Amino acid sequence: MRRLGYDPPPMTDVRTRFAPSPTGYLHLGSARTALYNWAFARRHGGKFILRIEDTDRERSTRESEEAVLEGLRWLGLDWDEGPFRQSENAQRHREVVEQLLAQNKAYRCACTRESLELRKQASVDAGGRGVYDGHCRELDLGPDCGPHTVRLRLPPDGMLGFRDAVFGPSGQDASQIGDAIIQRSDGSPLFHLAVVVDDIDMGISHVIRGADHHPNTPFQIALYQALEVEPPTFAHIPLTIAESGKKLSKRRDNVSIQQFQEEGYLAAALVNWIVRLGWSHGDEEIFALDDIRRLFDLESVGRSAARAEIAKLQWLDQHYIKQLSMNELLQQARPHFERVAERPVEDTPELRKLLDLLRERSKTLVEMAELAHWYLRDEIEYQEKAVKKHLRGSALTVMRALLERMSEAEEWSEEVLEGIFHDVAAALGDLKMGKLAQPIRVAVTGGHSSPGIFETLVVLGEKRTIQRIGQAIELIERRDAVATDD
Ligand code: GLU
Repeated sequence: MRRLGYDPPPMTDVRTRFAPSPTGYLHLGSARTALYNWAFARRHGGKFILRIEDTDRERSTRESEEAVLEGLRWLGLDWDEGPFRQSENAQRHREVVEQLLAQNKAYRCACTRESLELRKQASVDAGGRGVYDGHCRELDLGPDCGPHTVRLRLPPDGMLGFRDAVFGPSGQDASQIGDAIIQRSDGSPLFHLAVVVDDIDMGISHVIRGADHHPNTPFQIALYQALEVEPPTFAHIPLTIAESGKKLSKRRDNVSIQQFQEEGYLAAALVNWIVRLGWSHGDEEIFALDDIRRLFDLESVGRSAARAEIAKLQWLDQHYIKQLSMNELLQQARPHFERVAERPVEDTPELRKLLDLLRERSKTLVEMAELAHWYLRDEIEYQEKAVKKHLRGSALTVMRALLERMSEAEEWSEEVLEGIFHDVAAALGDLKMGKLAQPIRVAVTGGHSSPGIFETLVVLGEKRTIQRIGQAIELIERRDAVATDD
């Protein structure tokens, strides 16, 4: 056993862990905890361990566990040991409780729930803290005392202190906590006991976790003392909050990593955004996983809650989308493109050109796929406003002239198309380019925003362009004929 005391362990044997309770998805806050633990272990050449805290049997299905693992893999956070399951250690937890009982560091408590409630209320009414009053502390109850819990015998007073790597000196007086339960009457361990025993058994050197666990730590320190093990270094990281400053809410906010993935964010952007929720390194904003594993430190984790600003994430995502190699971009964008296309999307020079054009103007891959709808689908959706403004009777002459020239084009290139547009503009009385480009853009994409018109037409290809312009001309003719009939 290690020496009792509060000196942080030497950094030569860093072992961190991520200990999620599976909920069916990887929560944004949990992902940050995982990332910080991963980064700290990597920075110090240590080990990162995964432990699934599956003691809530109902919520801890294999599927919900797998969702957490999938999220970690997608973010690129690899672990060295595990996943272990807390439930597998149940026997060990019971043994430790037995050991504490044998050493008189814990005792059985046969107080009923009702009597505890009454006494707690009386204590609160008298201005007390409502902590356990020590009723069974000296009764020396044996295993045959009927239904009972087991409580840790805390020192009667004295500080249960620790030095938090983020919050600094922390702790609470033992008398304010009271002898809390470590084993339920059904023999199952309480969270604190399971966490401390598992952390000891796994040789965890640094416990990096959400600040919601900061108030739990003094009691855990008492457990370390009872077990005569030097506690690990604790680092509690401030909570992540919504942009509004309120608590993140599952209903209101996106808190699931899988959902961010579905919304078309790159893992690299998400990791970069998450690491900056509470950690900084000078004025720098861009951190790839490799930078994070090289630079991450606990000293630069802030103490105030971090706001999850989506605009920042979008900015980062755009940054990473622009950086990707064409092959990577294609690979990342393809599933999103196929969802819009509702069929497999072929790798063609036109598709690659389109990706290059759209990456300049897309904040996410989903946005990119939506901007590419006119390429991906055979049936285009006309936007009503754009049709009203640009597909008018007065555009027919221009459209017919362009269609005629395009049908005769010997080559389908930007230069040739530009030549055709200039000729037609000149022939029809020196028209401005917009007068030609906008109706054609609406005809081939359904809307009035797309990359440059010549690039758009080249990407779409000769056949589809000609078919769509013909279709738009028919649409105008039919509509105007109906209008005249009226
Ligand atoms: N399973 C706990 C949670 O998901 C974490 C426990 C710990 O990190 O000590 O909040």
